[in-house]
Amino acid sequence: MTPIRLFGDPVLTTPAAPVVDFDAELRQLVGDLTETMFAAGGAGLAAPQLGVGLRVFTWYVDGEVGHLVNPDVRPVGDETEEGPEGCLSIPGYRWDCRRHLHVVATGWNLHGDPVRVEGSELLARAIQHETDHLDGVLFVERLDAETRRLAMRAIREAEWAGAGAPAVKVSPHSTFGKAL
Ligand SMILES: [Zn+2]
Repeated sequence: MTPIRLFGDPVLTTPAAPVVDFDAELRQLVGDLTETMFAAGGAGLAAPQLGVGLRVFTWYVDGEVGHLVNPDVRPVGDETEEGPEGCLSIPGYRWDCRRHLHVVATGWNLHGDPVRVEGSELLARAIQHETDHLDGVLFVERLDAETRRLAMRAIREAEWAGAGAPAVKVSPHSTFGKAL
């Protein structure tokens, strides 16, 4: 398990590079992401959140754990859904964020085999949130203007702002309340 980088860390706003070698290092990274995601009680985690600038993320949604390498994500249909979203790099907060309701993601697993994942609702939200991380985008950038203003104020005033260990506050009872 590796400490999760917090808002303000430059690695979180730097686009990640594609994985080239499907080697032991990648297997270790996927293992570390999965373990750290479980330990933090999260629904998803992207490599830049562990300080690794590679296009890899994991998820844990509806009892299913998965990972994707070099993902390509596309919306399916036009439906969107506004719902509460959180981020392990912005611990302790949730804001409503609009996302595509259905997506399809293609990419590779850690062995280099092609993978295709269709997701709706929370899985779709997690995949979009984690793919944003790979592009150096934090979900506060996806909020409407007023919510974003409130979010930025809360982040500035957060007890972890500027450094320190994250105090992750997530409900153990709600999957939908889990951070990503
Ligand atoms: Zn996040």
